[in-house]
Amino acid sequence: MKFNLTKKVLAWYDNNKRTLPWRVGKKSNNKLYYRVLSEFMLQQTQVKTVIPYFAKFTSKFPNLNSLSKANEKKILKLWEGLGYYRRARNLLATSRILVKRYNSKLPQEIDEIKTLPGIGDYTSNVLAALIYNKPTLAFDGNVKRVISRILNMEVRKIDFKEFKKINKKKIFNTNRNSDLVEAMMEFGALVCNSKTPKCYRCPIKINCKFYKSSNKIKQIKKEMTNKNINIFCYLSKKGEIALTKKNNSGFLNEFNLPKIESIKKNKSFKKWKLLSKYKNSISNKKLNINLYYQFSKDIPNNYSWYSIKRNNEFIPSFTKHIFKQVSVLF
Ligand code: SF4
Repeated sequence: MKFNLTKKVLAWYDNNKRTLPWRVGKKSNNKLYYRVLSEFMLQQTQVKTVIPYFAKFTSKFPNLNSLSKANEKKILKLWEGLGYYRRARNLLATSRILVKRYNSKLPQEIDEIKTLPGIGDYTSNVLAALIYNKPTLAFDGNVKRVISRILNMEVRKIDFKEFKKINKKKIFNTNRNSDLVEAMMEFGALVCNSKTPKCYRCPIKINCKFYKSSNKIKQIKKEMTNKNINIFCYLSKKGEIALTKKNNSGFLNEFNLPKIESIKKNKSFKKWKLLSKYKNSISNKKLNINLYYQFSKDIPNNYSWYSIKRNNEFIPSFTKHIFKQVSVLF
C-alpha cells in the first residue's frame, strides 16, 4: 500500500480543527499544564462537557504550580459534576510529582510518564507526542476505528505492535507527530465517526479500503449538493463583525455567523460591496460563496459586535475563515 495518508490528514486538520482552549501554541508556558489537565478531564468525558470545567479550573489554578499546591477538597469541589473523582485525585497527585520531581516538566520517556498517577498507555503516548513531538500514535477508540476502516481490519486487531508492522510501509510518516496525534483524534471525531462516517467529504476516501469495499458505504454516502449563497458582513470601523446565533439559511443554526442568504438580489443589495468569491463546504453542501460587507453603525436586533482579533474559541472554522478575509479591510 504505497500512499502517505499523513499529508492528507494533516491538511484536513489544518483547515478544520476546532479551536479548543487547551490547544495553545507550541511555545506557551502553560502547554504542559493545559494538556495534562485536559487529558485527565477528557478521559470518558466529551469535549463539550469538559470545556466549562477546563475554564473553571484554569481560572482558579492558572498554572501547574498553583494546582500542585491546591487542597484536595477544593479540587474535588471544582470537579463536581464531571464524575470519576479518582481522576481529580490523580490529577492533583500527578501535578505535585511533576512540580517537585521533574521541575514542572514532563519526563522524556514514555515508560516514565506512565508511572505518573492516572496515566496509562494511551495518555502517556498522547502527552509524549504533544509535548515532545515523539513519533507515536495514541490509540483511543476514534483512532483505532479510523485505522481499522482505512485498512479494513477488525478494530480489536489494531494495537501498537500491529500498527508498527503496518507502518513499516510508511502509511503514517511525518515530523509533525504532535499534530498527527491530534489530527487523527479529530478526524475520528468529526469525519470518520462511528455511526455515520462522512465518507462523501472524506479527504482520504480514495485510500480507504472500507470505503471501496463496503456496501454499507452506499447507504451512508450522500451526494454533495451545491448551494450558492451570499454572506453579508456588517463591520464596524473598530475592527468588529456583527454575528448572530440565528440565520435564515436553514443550516448551521447553532453557530455564530454573519448574515447568510441564498442568492436573490433585491433593492438593498446595492449597499453591499463584494469582498471575495470562494468555495467552502459544510456537512453535505458544497457552497459557492459571495462574501459582501458594509461598514455600519446599525445592526439588526439579534446581532452583536465581535472583534475579529479576539481569541475566537468556540467560533467554527467556517466563520473564522470569514474573519480572515475581512481582516484585510482593517
Ligand atoms: S472514507 Fe469513510 S470510512 Fe474511510 S476513512 Fe473516510 S470517513 Fe472513514
